[in-house]
Amino acid sequence: MAQLEFDSEWRKKEESLEEIIKKYPELPPIAILEIDAHRRGVFYTDKALERLDESVHQVTEYTLRDKTQRKVPASLTLRDGSHLVVGEDFTKTSRDPYLVDVVDGKIVLTDQGKVYEEVSYWEKPAFFDKVTSRGTPMKKVIAARPQRYSIQPSMFCHFWECAKDGCKYCSYGSKGVKYHGRPDDLINLQDVEETMRELVKEPGRFVGVILTGGSILTGPKLCEDELQIYIEVLQAMGTVFKTKKWPSQVNSTALDKEQLQRLYDQTGLTSYTTDLEVFDDELYKWVCPGKAKAIPQAEWKKRLFDAVDVFGKGRVDTGLVSGVELAKPNGFKSEEEALKKDFETAEEMASHGVLLKHDIWHVGDNSIFRGQLTPSLDYYVRLTKGLYEINQKYGLSGDMDSYRKCGMHPNINLDRI
Ligand code: SF4
Repeated sequence: MAQLEFDSEWRKKEESLEEIIKKYPELPPIAILEIDAHRRGVFYTDKALERLDESVHQVTEYTLRDKTQRKVPASLTLRDGSHLVVGEDFTKTSRDPYLVDVVDGKIVLTDQGKVYEEVSYWEKPAFFDKVTSRGTPMKKVIAARPQRYSIQPSMFCHFWECAKDGCKYCSYGSKGVKYHGRPDDLINLQDVEETMRELVKEPGRFVGVILTGGSILTGPKLCEDELQIYIEVLQAMGTVFKTKKWPSQVNSTALDKEQLQRLYDQTGLTSYTTDLEVFDDELYKWVCPGKAKAIPQAEWKKRLFDAVDVFGKGRVDTGLVSGVELAKPNGFKSEEEALKKDFETAEEMASHGVLLKHDIWHVGDNSIFRGQLTPSLDYYVRLTKGLYEINQKYGLSGDMDSYRKCGMHPNINLDRI
């Protein structure tokens, strides 16, 4: 685990978990704990790592600063079945992370010696130990959360062609290293099909798959190559299903209406995501300069509204990397101002049938924003409550990105309560 500029006094400067739990009695304490664990990250004690069984659990291996390798659980499931999506490898926090420890024989989430919740490690799917007929390990073709799978058809993003164009919270290319691969360097479709065939054999596990990746701007018109990649991969995956449509989601650069219609008509795709990332237009230009040049925010929003026409209300969502709207030096100066703008844009989007979600900002060591401080727990709780209430007001179910499928969106996770 890496620490940013650590402020040992941080607990004195913001309200504690207990204070926030008392302040928002309408929210279950476990939901607030989940938000805080996403915000602060986790670290595993030696006793907790003794409970990691590689024959059962999904493991993440990463390199420490002294170049030694460390194996940790991929992530955690809470007692109520919701998932934390917090890898120790991407816990780069300026606050103390929660400690995963073993107390009275149970694996638990703790802070300053206090036990908060029992947790379990994500189990790996059966296909993870298999290889395709081409010899590719299937776990390299499709990644897994407990119930939803994910696939990255291409390992490329055009915004890192010019180092200043990449999104400032993105960890992939800010140090001048291009996001790996080439625009035409695609996942092998035979590997995809064979892995999908194995994946769906495991009873009771599959609830959906998401396809995502960086932005590919090339083609006869903007993003045409990116669209074609998603169509081909979805068609390969679709050979496994008897129905035309099957539970699936694409998270892509914002496609235009004609492209969205082709994506819907030519594949089994059932839901669509394209993230605004930052809800204020001026900050969007600062935080995501490449995206803003290619597709200004007003056009991005229009494409989301068009997507609702194609996929239907509640089958399209958009998200923000919550917290970057307060990044220094150009972000909002107060949490109050940031929330005001976030809710204003949220209302606009939801009134057009676009479901809202947020992902808590993890400050990546390799991102342009490295070293920044994320907002308070109070901010994240207010944002979570506000987005949840706006989704409710406009009758938007979070099913396409529910806590069983994703787990990274605290406001959608409230749907389970
Ligand atoms: S679109 Fe932005 S966040 Fe995504 S890979 Fe490219 S630079 Fe990173």
